[in-house]
Amino acid sequence: MDEDFPKTLLPMEKRFGTEDACREYLTQLRWPTGFICPGCKGKAGWIDRRHRWTCQTCRRQTTVTAGTIFEGTHLPLQVWFRAAWLITSQKSGASALGIQRVLGLGSYETAWSWLHKLRRAMVRPGRERLVGTVEVDETFVGGVTPGAHARDGGGKALIMIAAEEDGAGIGRIRLGQVPDASADHLHRFIQQAIAPGSTIHTDGWASYQGLEKLGYAHRTTRLKGKGKQAPVELLPRVHRVAALLKRWLLGTHQGAVSPSHLDYYMDEFTFRFNRRRSASRGKLFFRLLEQAVQVEPVTYDAMIGGKLHQR
Ligand SMILES: [Zn+2]
Repeated sequence: MDEDFPKTLLPMEKRFGTEDACREYLTQLRWPTGFICPGCKGKAGWIDRRHRWTCQTCRRQTTVTAGTIFEGTHLPLQVWFRAAWLITSQKSGASALGIQRVLGLGSYETAWSWLHKLRRAMVRPGRERLVGTVEVDETFVGGVTPGAHARDGGGKALIMIAAEEDGAGIGRIRLGQVPDASADHLHRFIQQAIAPGSTIHTDGWASYQGLEKLGYAHRTTRLKGKGKQAPVELLPRVHRVAALLKRWLLGTHQGAVSPSHLDYYMDEFTFRFNRRRSASRGKLFFRLLEQAVQVEPVTYDAMIGGKLHQR
């Protein structure tokens, strides 16, 4: 599908004012070249008046929302589209309470689970890893952390941040939660987030040793004498990202994020951060819905269980 999306609120409201218009849009996103049976991949089928597709080959019945995050929803797609608009059009996203109020959803739990379903659509399947020179560091999130570089948790979540160097600025980022700052976990995060051949830029923490064996170049910047240089000057990009992430968690979400759900909040932060130079917020809306019809449905029970996703 061409990148066809409303750029501002009014065109969005006009365009998606009926269930048919929303369904048609999702159909274009899911099957841009025409219906494909999710069972046998057959390309021939017909649609009935209740919007149900029947595969001509295997006779399986399906709908455009079956097998996506919209599966089984009791509320109109129009409301979903507005939730997607709210979360993508605002620079800081939206909280569950905000979504509940603006959309008039019956319960906080519904709003909360919608946001989590949408967050699961924020990681594009098969996305490319970071490349070039990439700053990597760990930090704790959750509560106030005096002396933020102590590597013992104290009940807080330990996260890894990777940020591409782009001149003096930041390119793309990746975030991930790790159980501890051992070489095992740091190396695994780096392998998932960054393509081999890249240069990893870290501080002198011993767990970062051995990256050359994994196919990376490794540049280390060490603290020169006590108090002369703050860590923020050594790895300015990851510290900038850490500050923005913490401000967002405390601001939009009031710090009410448990470690078991933190990965999904970080996915949302990453989605927005990596598209911060998009000319139009409507493009984020488009990407989110595009990915929403490619992502498997997840139940509320699985979400409150905080099931970590496969990366
Ligand atoms: Zn079929």
